Amino acid sequence: MKLLEGKNAIITGGSRGIGKGIAQIFARHGANVAFTYASSVEAANELEKELSSLGVKAKGYKSNAANYNECEELIKNVAGDFGSIDILINNAGITKDNLLMRMSEEDFDQVIEVNLKSVFNMTKAVQRTMLKQRNGSIINMSSVVGVKGNAGQANYAASKAGIIGFSKSMALELGSRNIRTNVIAPGFIETEMTGKLDEKTVEGWRESIPLKRGGTPEDIANACVFLASDLSSYITGQVIQVNGGMLT
Ligand code: NAP
Repeated sequence: MKLLEGKNAIITGGSRGIGKGIAQIFARHGANVAFTYASSVEAANELEKELSSLGVKAKGYKSNAANYNECEELIKNVAGDFGSIDILINNAGITKDNLLMRMSEEDFDQVIEVNLKSVFNMTKAVQRTMLKQRNGSIINMSSVVGVKGNAGQANYAASKAGIIGFSKSMALELGSRNIRTNVIAPGFIETEMTGKLDEKTVEGWRESIPLKRGGTPEDIANACVFLASDLSSYITGQVIQVNGGMLT
């Protein structure tokens, strides 16, 4: 069953990892997909082709989610190219890990700007379109680390916890216009972001997870399909943890 037939989605950070997985599963569910990336031009062109071959409209846009003006411009372009925007997925994110003692101001600011300010930028830019439509689903990518904290990731944890507060506020502000805002908090998902970790650490993670494996981008994408579709039409302001039971 195609759950997103005819809906238009925009996904930030779609060129790799979780965002790419979401784009692929959304296209299989019949959604037209606009996605962004920071620098992976070739990967984006490949993905555009792959998604288009599934019979949906697909387009990649090079756009820095941390930049307010670029987000405004992006939404103007996507609205022009696609017509309406039914679904926004704020997925773009980075890590710059270090203990507080060694964390530079620049590494703190950059993580907050790419991970948290981007959510403000994109939501602000898309809200006029969704308000006019009186319809929309916004899904923001937090993390298990935003819920419970993590040593060596104070900047990342702060950005991901901030996303939860922002999203709950949007659920309250925009609910009366039928715009829903929810959060997904992934656990340990095996992508390039986690590929930076050494294999022994990764094995330790897998072993500590009740379901005994790391998650896949598809695991996150399937939760996004639910939150983007009409199956979740009475759900807003929630944090769905997709983590194999890592945090219960
Ligand atoms: P990833 O493999 O590193 O991919 C990151 C994506 O974001 C890429 O498409 C990248 O584009 C894009 N991006 C980075 N900076 C950007 C910017 N300033 N503007 C626009 N796009 C930008 O990461 P991932 O593991 O898929 O993670 C995706 C999201 O899930 C992140 O928000 C992350 O924090 C969250 N998350 C991940 C995990 C995990 O275990 N992997 C767990 C919890 C939460 P380029 O290819 O052009 O660089």
